[in-house]
Order: sequence, then structure tokens, then C-alpha cells
Amino acid sequence: MSRFQIPTDRDASGRSLGEEELAWLAAVIQSGSLNSNSGPMVRSFETEFAEHQGMASCVACNSGSFAVQAALAALELPRGSSVVTTAVTDFGALTALLYEGLQPRFCDVDPLTLQPTAATIARALDEPAQGSLGTEPVSAVILTSLFGRPSEAERVAALCAERGLPLIEDAAQSLETLRGGRRIGSFGQISTFSFQQGKHITCGEGGAILCDDEALARRVRLFVNKAWPYGEPNPDHLFVAPNGRMTELQGAVLRGQLAKLPGLVERRIATAARFLEEIDPTVGVAHPGLDDGDRHSFWRIALEVDGERVRGGADGLAQALRELGIPCAPHYVGKPAFALRAFRDLGAAEDLADYPGIHRGLERVLVLPWNEGIGMELARKMGQALHVAAEGLRA
Ligand SMILES: *Cc1c(COP(=O)(O)O)cnc(C)c1O
Repeated sequence: MSRFQIPTDRDASGRSLGEEELAWLAAVIQSGSLNSNSGPMVRSFETEFAEHQGMASCVACNSGSFAVQAALAALELPRGSSVVTTAVTDFGALTALLYEGLQPRFCDVDPLTLQPTAATIARALDEPAQGSLGTEPVSAVILTSLFGRPSEAERVAALCAERGLPLIEDAAQSLETLRGGRRIGSFGQISTFSFQQGKHITCGEGGAILCDDEALARRVRLFVNKAWPYGEPNPDHLFVAPNGRMTELQGAVLRGQLAKLPGLVERRIATAARFLEEIDPTVGVAHPGLDDGDRHSFWRIALEVDGERVRGGADGLAQALRELGIPCAPHYVGKPAFALRAFRDLGAAEDLADYPGIHRGLERVLVLPWNEGIGMELARKMGQALHVAAEGLRA
């Protein structure tokens, strides 16, 4: 069998950058204003993105990691306090905590979806795990919806309200994702996004913070701008804050990208459905279902591989797929954050045995990158190939 040529989000084959982005970019170059405090492009993107998401305020910044840091800073959480978050996420979302003088208190996840649930968060709130960095009282919760799949955000929001804790939604992987008909990123006090090369839409590197609270939005904007209140009377640097600004060039690209976003995600959803249709769960490969009103925006396709039915489990299937030219990541991030060198060196001493959901979830998950360059026919062939590969590994 000939090897697959799969479009990738690392280059034009799996990205949708074109005339629209070029036109906005040309306008920036011609204007000579490349900084967002001089030109209109980032401000226009902020207005358009807030409106698209149905939120009052948006502040753009230079990365999704910085967006998390800005959200934490703007909430003015007590230094040294703990923040409940997942250990299965992007490293940048976690270092943001440490830069703000906060400590992660990791919660377990649902082994099927690798997402935190209201139950796993409640458990972490009530007691830190043995060896946790986050032993001080909890001041906030971060909820991350992975792969474009909605987490049970309404339950987590209710839990946070009950405990009087602000909820930050890290929606970097979940643009256009719906939970019960409502957008992921609209359930908490504040939400964060990433526009890095491999996300749903991109300007190379970039991020945004959304909220519905004017005072909170002002503090976010100050944090992104070295705490300089542009446009206010008697400005002064009001507190210690870094420069996390997005440039006009990035804003220009994002305006083009945002206009395409709904169509791009519709395409991902259609091709992912075509792919999944080809896989009969009897071969030991499953894709967890969705609740009514949920929409998965398929940033990635995370499959659950049953090691008792597929020889070699996620690793065995990954090897077979790679031989066919289909890229995939068994075990997603590989290990939970608390097992990373950087966190170990800080004193993290959690035991994976205390996180059965993470253990089982990471062991069984096989993650396929997905993008808008994948067409219906290729999706069908990939699904068929995966089905045949799994069948060939029947234990
Ligand atoms: C990508 C990502 C981030 C970090 O975004 P960067 O733009 O790469 O800094 C944070 N959280 C999650 C869940 C992500 O997927």
C-alpha cells in the first residue's frame, strides 16, 4: 500500500492563509504602524473576536501561555495560593501559574476524555494529593477543554460558584466548541485562547483573553501593557507587569483567519465524522460520544485504544499508522505535568497511582492531528486504514 500524504498544520497544506490575510497585512505595512498602540488592527481584531464569542471584552496578547498568566494576574489571586488545574495540558498553561507566584494543585481527569470533571475538581479542592506543590488554600480553578471536545463546563462553573472561586477557562484547543449549545469560554469569569501555528486559527504565535467584566478587562489590558494605562488621564506604570502585546502584523493575519473560522471548523467536523464512520468499535478503537447540545470542534481526534483487543495497545496501533504515513501521538503529552523534570525540580512529588484517570487515560489514548486541509475522501481512506490496521492487530 502506498503511504499517505497527510496535510499538516505546519505548512500551507493544512492551513487556510491567503488573500484576506495578505490584504490586511498590506494595509499594516502601508500604514507604517506595526505596534498595537499605534495602529487599529489588533483593536479591530479584539472587537471582532469579542463579538464572535458573545463576550463584552477581549484583550489580545502574544501567546496562549501569556493569556493564562494575564488572566491569573488580573484576578489578583493571593501570592502563594493554590490553583486547581489539570496535569494533562500544555506546559505553558502551567508555568503561567508559577510566574504569578501561584502553585498548581493537580486534579484527576475522566479517563475517557482526559478532561477534568466537577467530581475530580471537587476532590482536589477538598484535599491536595500526597506530594502536591499546591498545599495552600485554593484561590481559583482552571478548566481546560482538550482536543476541541467540550468539558462539563456548566457543572464545573456551578461547583466554583458554590465554593466562591473564580473559574478560568483555557479554551486554547476549543474554539467553536459548544457545551449544551453554549460556547466553551463563556462559562467562567475569564477565558483564554491561543493562536499558535497549530491551533484552529493562527498568526504564528498569539493569544487572547475574554471576559464580561469591565474592571477585570482593564486589569488584563494593563498587565499586557507593562501596566501603562494608555488613554487614561495621568498615566503611570501602576504595578509590575511585562510586555505581552500582539503586533499589528499578527492582528492583521488574525482578522483574516477569524472571518474563516466557522467554515474551517465545519469542515473539520464533517471530515472527522467521515473518518470516524469507518471505524467499527468492535476492533477495540472508540471515540467517546457527546451529550445533546455539545459540539466537538476537532482540533485533534483523540481515540481510546483497548489494549486487550488491540495488540500493543495505543503504541502498537501508532506504529502501524506511522508505517502508513499517518501521523499520530500515542499517550498524547506522554506524562502528566507533575512527572516533568521542571516540576520535579520544583518539588512536585505526586504519585501517578493517586491519579487513576490520568493513568488509564494516557495509557489508552491515541491522538491524531486534524486540520482543514484534510478532505472527505482522504478522511474516509484514513478511517478505513485505521480500521484495517486495528483489525490486523486483533489480540
Ligand atoms: C496551546 C495551548 C496553550 C499555550 O498556548 P501558546 O500559544 O502555545 O503559548 C495553553 N493551553 C492549552 C490547552 C493549549 O493547547
